[in-house]
Amino acid sequence: MTSRHIPVALTLAITFFVISSAWAQDPEVQSALSTLSPDQLLNHIKVLASDEYEGRGPGTAGEQKTVDYLIQQFKSLGLQPGNPDGTYIQNVPLVGFTAKPAVSFAAKDQRIDLKFPTDTVVWSRHFVDDLKVEDSPIVFVGYGVVAPEYGWDDFKDVDVRGKTILMLINDPPIPDPNDPSKLDDKMFKGYTMTYYGRWTYKYEIAAAKGAKAAIIVHQTGPAGYPWGVIMMSSGRENFGLQVDDPTSGRAAIEGWITLDSARKLCAAAGADFDALKKSAVSRDFRPAPLNIKASFDIHSTIRKIASRNVIAKIEGSDPKLKNECVIYTAHWDHLGRDTTLTGDQIFNGAADNASGSAALLELAKAFTKVKPKRTIIFLSVTAEEKGLLGSQYYATHPLYPLDKTLANMNIDGIELWGLTRDLGVVGMGQSTLEDTLAPFVAAQGRKLVPESDPGKGYYFRSDHFEFAKVGVPALYLDKGIDVIGKPAGYGKQKRDEYIDHDYHKPSDEVKPDWDLSGAVEDISLLFQVGYAVAQGDRYPQWKQGSEFKARRDQMGHQ
Ligand SMILES: [Zn+2]
Repeated sequence: MTSRHIPVALTLAITFFVISSAWAQDPEVQSALSTLSPDQLLNHIKVLASDEYEGRGPGTAGEQKTVDYLIQQFKSLGLQPGNPDGTYIQNVPLVGFTAKPAVSFAAKDQRIDLKFPTDTVVWSRHFVDDLKVEDSPIVFVGYGVVAPEYGWDDFKDVDVRGKTILMLINDPPIPDPNDPSKLDDKMFKGYTMTYYGRWTYKYEIAAAKGAKAAIIVHQTGPAGYPWGVIMMSSGRENFGLQVDDPTSGRAAIEGWITLDSARKLCAAAGADFDALKKSAVSRDFRPAPLNIKASFDIHSTIRKIASRNVIAKIEGSDPKLKNECVIYTAHWDHLGRDTTLTGDQIFNGAADNASGSAALLELAKAFTKVKPKRTIIFLSVTAEEKGLLGSQYYATHPLYPLDKTLANMNIDGIELWGLTRDLGVVGMGQSTLEDTLAPFVAAQGRKLVPESDPGKGYYFRSDHFEFAKVGVPALYLDKGIDVIGKPAGYGKQKRDEYIDHDYHKPSDEVKPDWDLSGAVEDISLLFQVGYAVAQGDRYPQWKQGSEFKARRDQMGHQ
């Protein structure tokens, strides 16, 4: 085999293997990596997760303290302001809204009122005090998916402008033609959720098609969470970005209904929900108008909040390549304080994401020891917990051209329980960044493994996703769970304990038995991948089959 016939991925792997072994000798890289310190990580986490920072809620005194701390740290490391206006700040204007909806349906001979939030949760992101929609015709559009790469279009030539569309959650589950007990890996990645399956996609396609209202039928398995999660999020204030025209790119009404309610509505319309659902698992599916009309009356309480992303940079040393960049992200915000709670009211967010913010500062420190050819950006984003809003704002108002942004690497939580033999990649198979990563992982004597639950769409749930969506290849590491020196099952047990007891609770605090040595190994991987990309002669690519590839290809990165 001549070298011309070696597949690109393999050539890359070989290239980076050569780099990784060369780097083992490179004194600059070694000195950069040797600056990474578990104690320093812990010090940053202790500050950011202290009660004094009040859970780092956007728009609170805790935000001011957090932003001040991050800027002061970046400055003391000698990093330059990341905003070309000469500051370390990107202002992120947010809107908070609390919706009180009334929802009813009129069929031929009956009226069905759905109860909020037990039967339905709907809202409007048009940000007006009162929004009424009366007698809007309903069309069932199956999974609401338009995916040219799979030859799939649930809308066909049906015009849904001004109508209410009813959609199913997740990807169409196509059975494997050779073994119908399994899903077809060639269609929508089998059991792995693609972006077409995620609720945010459903609302985007609804808006693109001009629908008035976009309603998703909730089902626990395919959604990945029970109705309670949707109910809980509806009671409290929700957030969006302040934009010039909030009606653009958004259906007037978005929301969910329970499976039972969907069955009831279909029955009232003389249709059978389960038969409709079954018909949607086919390329030949056509939208089905239902003989029933929807009315919505939504009262919203709205307030504006000024928040901030913090941004710092190390300018590239190459006169040409310094106009290109690699961006590291970690969200600084958490859930703030809930004054209605008795006892501990502060959501300290030590793991989520004081730890990632600390890692971002350690990465910045390491990069001051090398001279990257391309510019390295450190972006600490706000309002991740409110729906990835800080990163969405950056991705839609980038301070550096996205077509010259080679990669994003995101940190949301770090390894807290020691050195591990394994390392997960969330969204394994998406981009060549994991091929760049692989030899560095091997050099640590560790094993790369796919994420544990690819059906839940975790790749779409943290800040790197906003970069993916606009085409920038993005890497998001999972934590390892095979912890060295501990009994089998220890890592999984610690992960489960965190999800059950501490995740998004006031008890997410610094724990006395944390061991950040594994975090240092993971951060050193992120450093090496970013540095390799910053020095490399190739742009990282989305892999064949990635739903984000088309966007990047449009930028001319083929
Ligand atoms: Zn987080």
